[in-house]
Amino acid sequence: MHILFVTSEATPWSKTGGLADVCSALPKTLSLLGRKVSIVTPYYRCVRDWFLKNRGAEPEAMYGVTLSAPMGKNECRGGVRKATLDGTNATVYFIEHNDFYGREGIYNYQGVDYADNFQRFAFLSRASLELIRRLSLEVDIIHVNDWQTALVPVYLDTLYRSRSRLDSGISFGRVAYPKITDVAGDDAPLFDRIKTVLTIHNLRHQGRFWRGAMDSLGLDWSLFSYDKMEFYGQVNYLKSGVVFADAITTVSPQYAQEIQTKFFGERLQGVLRERANDLVGILNGIDTEEWNPAKDEYIPANYDVEHIYPGKSECKARLQEELGLPVEPKTPLLGVVSRFDPQKGLDLVAEVAGNFIEQYGVQFVILGSGERELGDRFRGLAYRYPRNFVLRDTFSVALSHRIEAGADVFLMPSRYEPCGLNQMYSLRYGTLPVVHNVGGLHDTVVNGSEENIRAGIANGFLLYCFSVDDMTKALNWTLECYRHRPDDWQKMMRTAMSCDHSWQKSALEYDALYNKLLSKI
Ligand code: ADP
Repeated sequence: MHILFVTSEATPWSKTGGLADVCSALPKTLSLLGRKVSIVTPYYRCVRDWFLKNRGAEPEAMYGVTLSAPMGKNECRGGVRKATLDGTNATVYFIEHNDFYGREGIYNYQGVDYADNFQRFAFLSRASLELIRRLSLEVDIIHVNDWQTALVPVYLDTLYRSRSRLDSGISFGRVAYPKITDVAGDDAPLFDRIKTVLTIHNLRHQGRFWRGAMDSLGLDWSLFSYDKMEFYGQVNYLKSGVVFADAITTVSPQYAQEIQTKFFGERLQGVLRERANDLVGILNGIDTEEWNPAKDEYIPANYDVEHIYPGKSECKARLQEELGLPVEPKTPLLGVVSRFDPQKGLDLVAEVAGNFIEQYGVQFVILGSGERELGDRFRGLAYRYPRNFVLRDTFSVALSHRIEAGADVFLMPSRYEPCGLNQMYSLRYGTLPVVHNVGGLHDTVVNGSEENIRAGIANGFLLYCFSVDDMTKALNWTLECYRHRPDDWQKMMRTAMSCDHSWQKSALEYDALYNKLLSKI
């Protein structure tokens, strides 16, 4: 089985968020499981810089390989560079197009989105199919990610396959539509075998553009209809992908259910419900090498589930010291590592922190940056409670590790959370997470109720409603357990640290999905 990943970012070369981690960790794990894997991604300026800095040379150019695609009145041409994903034999194809990708920033410059993003990523999608044709790659699965590459299934289905998925009646009950042009010609067999998987990492970002963008895509205007690419008068790339992909996945089973509802569906719930039979949630994994309290080099003392102490207490004491907080082993230390974005629900933390400090003398450490207003609220708290509240408004991988290890409790009351990584890191470090019962948080955290603690399955605490009241209740109960039920707390820490969130597990689920798709005619 040959799986081709198409992605707009992949670590270590280009990254703006979790998408980049998934798009290198998953291919890597599948490759180590013995699958043939390739990755297609743009050759951004930051990719070139990475190679020059870390390898002393640009990746090998494939001379003579030009990928061309009509984009409106222009013919766009791109080159290809090739490398290998470290530690695997997976091939990475970088699509080189200096006008589109050779600039600073991946999607935007100084916070403003590039106006031609609709073309930049349409070209990436089209180029990945041209790459298959040009190199005669025998691909079985194309796995695309988020709106940036969601047009791949559209191009494949309308221009390259000899028979559209939509008129095969497999799962989509809509009327057939006429095939536009058959650009694949003799290469159709190469494309007919391919199944597509679209992974939605965050439904909020959909790639919505003015309708005139249709003129640039090399697709027929007949596709601009409410049941295909149109969305309230705009073109919507993610929606188009949802309609045309053979299977859709999202990054947790609970989020897969939630996005079919009005509350979480970002106005795509209807289209997603139509595809409910082809939509599954598969939890992301975490890098268990990088996030391993037994070997972590960022933390002052190592520990594991068999020997939590004195390692973890040492981490706490050193963290308190580093932050300028009183070094008090018994004072609960609550941590946050996050972007400051309304999604993350940190307004609840800002709301309740003062009370918990005044009533119980707890300590808070917040690492993050983003939204100004929230930062100001945290700065206010830090000013008012210098012995209890610390804000570090920066991005620091090292400090994030030390918080995961040194805090007693990790706070993540996200309004919505497709998967979330930080709660999984906290579990691994025995730092019990207090989370809102949504998305991936629901799937990874088991509430510390009396019953669950007794059954040995509790590993954190849930708030069931997104409200100050519930946050207060959840924290009260958390602190009660921490102070007065040390045995239960220890038990929960051990349960948390024993959870398996490795990529191996997720990769096997993707593998099963690919196999299922290929077994369909
Ligand atoms: P999201 O991808 O929505 O931001 P996740 O929990 O899935 O949230 O992943 C966030 C990642 O970014 C984690 O690896 C987290 O440790 C990291 N991170 C976020 N903010 C910071 C920060 N200020 N310093 C260091 N790491 C951060």
